[in-house]
Amino acid sequence: MGQINVENPFIFEALQWFSKKTKDIFLLLDKKGIIKYANSAFETCIQIPNSDIENSLLFDFIHPDDVKNTVEKLLFMNPDQQFIPFTSRLKQKNGTYSSILWTSCEYTEEGSIKLICHPLKDIIDSRDSISIGWRSTFFDLTDTAADIVDVDGKVILVNRAFEELYGWTQDELTGKRLPIVPQHLEFEFQNVMQRLLQGEKLIKLQTVRQRRDGTLIPINLMITPVYNETCEISALLGVTENISELMEYKMLVKLQNETLEAEERLLLDITKNISEVICLFDIKKDKFLYVSPSIEKSWGIKLEDIYENPLCFEDKFDTDASNNLIEIFRSTSGISQALEFNLTDKDSGQTRWIRAEITPITDKDGTVTRHISIFKDVTELKEKTNQIKQLDQLGVIGQLAAGIAHEIRNPLTSIKGFVQLLAEETNHQFGEIITSEIERIEFIMNEFLILAKPQREIVFKKENVNTVVQEVISFMRPEAVLNNVEFVTKFNSFPFVNCEAKQIKQVIINLIKNAIEAMPRGGKLHIHTLSTEEGFVMIKVRDEGIGISKEHLQRLSEPFFTNKEKGTGLGLMISNKIIEDHKGSIEFFSELGKGTTVEIRLPLATDIGK
Ligand code: ADP
Ligand code: MG
Repeated sequence: MGQINVENPFIFEALQWFSKKTKDIFLLLDKKGIIKYANSAFETCIQIPNSDIENSLLFDFIHPDDVKNTVEKLLFMNPDQQFIPFTSRLKQKNGTYSSILWTSCEYTEEGSIKLICHPLKDIIDSRDSISIGWRSTFFDLTDTAADIVDVDGKVILVNRAFEELYGWTQDELTGKRLPIVPQHLEFEFQNVMQRLLQGEKLIKLQTVRQRRDGTLIPINLMITPVYNETCEISALLGVTENISELMEYKMLVKLQNETLEAEERLLLDITKNISEVICLFDIKKDKFLYVSPSIEKSWGIKLEDIYENPLCFEDKFDTDASNNLIEIFRSTSGISQALEFNLTDKDSGQTRWIRAEITPITDKDGTVTRHISIFKDVTELKEKTNQIKQLDQLGVIGQLAAGIAHEIRNPLTSIKGFVQLLAEETNHQFGEIITSEIERIEFIMNEFLILAKPQREIVFKKENVNTVVQEVISFMRPEAVLNNVEFVTKFNSFPFVNCEAKQIKQVIINLIKNAIEAMPRGGKLHIHTLSTEEGFVMIKVRDEGIGISKEHLQRLSEPFFTNKEKGTGLGLMISNKIIEDHKGSIEFFSELGKGTTVEIRLPLATDIGK
């Protein structure tokens, strides 16, 4: 105790007196466990004179079974962690042992070890008359809740930290079973006893204890045995570590992880299922920091491949496309750009149009270090635009054809005249045939001209639906014959409607064309007109073709909906529009493999639209 240096000269004497008087044992060891100082309580406990104690190894006085645990706890303590009380057996001169409780262990800067421990024999012997007065001051100094119970589980001693944690006092507990053990966990004690009897020196449990106010707390419980002179277990030391905060923290972490996971999953789901490809590229590292999983589906590139080698698309796409991509990924220009290019797959030859938006990310100094790019596959959009352009072209060609038809019609008229003249003069039998064939050409030319001429103003006129339909049928007959399709017609009488005949013709042409196309091996095409009770005329077009599936039925009026290689998907859309303009309706009924029926209803003419 020489290092105590205080101004009052009597303090040293006072401490010496205290260390002699107290039953608590003070020890000072060196790093290796050699005893450098022991107070008289130690001497009393092991009944060996102090002179024989100093400079001997502490562990020579410890029961061989307890040496390992004691060395670990005292010599290799983690100084950052709280010291946890435990028990060992001390050898006495007469060969018997007595249990002591270690309650404090501190390492000094010079490398020595300061220890405090307490003989348990007296405490256990006088368990029934125990009171706070018996409690060692130093046992109370530790912040760890500790209790000593006898082999029946009845309380001998608890410390101050125990009282604070659980809310019961020593006086209330002495000689009673521990009320901190919830009823459903009472079996634990028997288990612990059994394990100690089998020779275990330290038992660790994670369990739950109850406070006086009824709240339950999760704890780590460490139990070491206390022995009597004959080395029988006479009591148990239990040390409690309250882990509610730790558990709460763990729960929080778990909860947070779960939310994170959910968010990550959501993000992953989104990035997997969008059609856009999103990339974050680091220019310095020349690597992707992030690529959305959608790249696998959209571009047919494996995620791990592109992370490993950002230029792996060179193997996949043709040179132009790859160069475009390389340029984008390595671009250091600080401006956001949007560009469009095509990617042609080397293997399949398939080309897709990609629209890219590149947003640079700069560091503090304004240098572009990374950029985010979003790639959108615009192939379908492109195709549609092209289709519309093509249709525009068709319009131009149509106009051209109309002009040519007009030019043909004039010489045709004179040819017809001359043929008739010639036929009269020569009385040749072919005259009539030639004339009738020329008339047929004229008819087709006229029909064609009506349809092809650009529409100026829509004029509604009262028309006989039968005539309109019949004219279309004769116009379409050659096409039908060519495809082995036979018209079956049935006309109702006087179905007059107010309409623009040319437009209605266009609708019927569309329907007949679709019907013919639906019967690649030919068949019957039924066309009926009939008046309905509600003041409508119905035109029914029924084929025996391939039919239309339920999902496709709903999409018929969508523009560009087609499943034909050369289809435009515009026919029915235009037809719908025309019938709508006529305040009528158009309905489709179909069964796959059996055929399709189209019903057009047009309001019967009143006298107004004459
Ligand atoms: P297109 O004929 O150019 O494909 P339409 O608008 O005329 O465009 O028709 C759209 C689609 O509707 C067709 O591609 C076809 O799949 C389906 N369809 C229309 N009419 C019939 C029919 N009579 N039988 C079977 N399928 C049809
Ligand atoms: Mg069509």
